[in-house]
Amino acid sequence: MAQNAPWYKDGLRFKCTGCGDCCTGAPGFVWVNKEEITALAKEVGLDETEFEKRYVREIGVRKSLNEREDANYDCVFLDGKTRKCTVYNVRPRQCRTWPFWDSCVRTPEAWEATCEACPGSGKGRLYQLGEIEAQKAIIRI
Ligand code: SF4
Repeated sequence: MAQNAPWYKDGLRFKCTGCGDCCTGAPGFVWVNKEEITALAKEVGLDETEFEKRYVREIGVRKSLNEREDANYDCVFLDGKTRKCTVYNVRPRQCRTWPFWDSCVRTPEAWEATCEACPGSGKGRLYQLGEIEAQKAIIRI
């Protein structure tokens, strides 16, 4: 039996404005796996042990990048002045796939809330259903 098409079957629009708002604000997690830690450590010129000591925290069996508790919970890799990501080329899957996370597109209401939080969501290029589903499948958030 064919599955029902999701509510966003005609696609969703997104074009990042570079505002940096998704990298700050309420406390949260940026999940990183082994490969991502390796790539990030290399990018900032540290060995993995030192990198984890400085930038990673354990949450149960998972690992997340740290946030700056003294600076509105900015991601540790967000430049406080330019509001740009300082490790953009090796940013984790979670950052690459925003805003096409399961939690953001599950319902029209969830997408509306995403558009309110992210000025690039709901505007710009139209992502087709297949592209959205592929992004969603990369990491479940
Ligand atoms: S909040 Fe949206 S528009 Fe702003 S940097 Fe993040 S993805 Fe881009």
